[in-house]
Amino acid sequence: MPAEDILRIEGVSMQFTGGAGLFGRRNRTTVRAVDEVNLSVRKGETLGLVGESGCGKTTLGRCILRAHKPSHGRILYRRDDGTEVDLAALSRAQLRPLRTEIRTVFQDPNSSLNPRMTVQQIVGEPLVVNGLARGSEVADRVADTLRRCGLRPELMRRYPHAFSGGERQRIGIARALVTQPRLVVADEAVSALDVSVRSQILNLLEDLQEELDLTYVFISHDLSVIQHLCDRVAVMYLGRIVEEAETEDLFEQPRHPYTEALLRSVPRPDPRLRRRDDVLPAGEVPAPDEAFAGCRFQPRCRYAEDICAREEPATLPRCHFAEDLTLDGVYATDVRQTS
Ligand code: SF4
Repeated sequence: MPAEDILRIEGVSMQFTGGAGLFGRRNRTTVRAVDEVNLSVRKGETLGLVGESGCGKTTLGRCILRAHKPSHGRILYRRDDGTEVDLAALSRAQLRPLRTEIRTVFQDPNSSLNPRMTVQQIVGEPLVVNGLARGSEVADRVADTLRRCGLRPELMRRYPHAFSGGERQRIGIARALVTQPRLVVADEAVSALDVSVRSQILNLLEDLQEELDLTYVFISHDLSVIQHLCDRVAVMYLGRIVEEAETEDLFEQPRHPYTEALLRSVPRPDPRLRRRDDVLPAGEVPAPDEAFAGCRFQPRCRYAEDICAREEPATLPRCHFAEDLTLDGVYATDVRQTS
């Protein structure tokens, strides 16, 4: 893969099979949560993955973390020494050393922290489990990481309930960073937080990225958060990436009608600026287990024409009319004001 990439996702699909029910195998359905995704992440950048809930972005994040083993495709990761490994092909044992390099920040700081463990135990656990430190070295590294995350190390013998929501998310971030990872996958990492706390955590993530030379894959349904933090954005719809662009370009001039619809659906602070079509179009959403021949967004798309029901666009942006349509990105200004 190109030298600037730390991660390259090639043709990754993730299928789930279920619903055997009374009639056994014949009644099984296969859901393609992620379908033939290609995506690169450059070292040191923040790549945003955005889309409505159920679009497959969380599943793709879990494939990168190898919480799921993809059904097809390769996930190439470049290690510090320049060697490339295919995360999708590694066994559990082979993945173990990589678990310290690729870490995650969870969405809900309330449920992701064990209430019966002290902050020192929570943050230090990945060091102990992965054999990276012992004894007083664990406490030293925990203290150092807490400090970096804006928390007072002298409080590390306390339990999570003694901290506010924002502080608990800082503890979650410290737990992710204590092993000195290179790549962090953050799934809705600030969506459970109040707006005021949210911007503090986003600023913290930005500072830590610069300080520790981190690469982020940031998964969110929230466009204001994506715009604040990300260098590039990939938009997902029904398991597919439909558009990928530098953040500024995407917000100013979207090239896929779904991206335009997402931008229009961002709540606008001034009600006088709201328009009746500022909502995501409803329309029928094809089930991901159906063989859908045309563009997946066609049942909801205001620009659809006959060809859209017959043929799925093969390249990004996945729209037959990407070159012809002038899509509306003007709401970007309003999005910025809400962040
Ligand atoms: Fe809309 Fe057709 Fe473009 Fe799909 S291909 S996004 S249906 S215009």
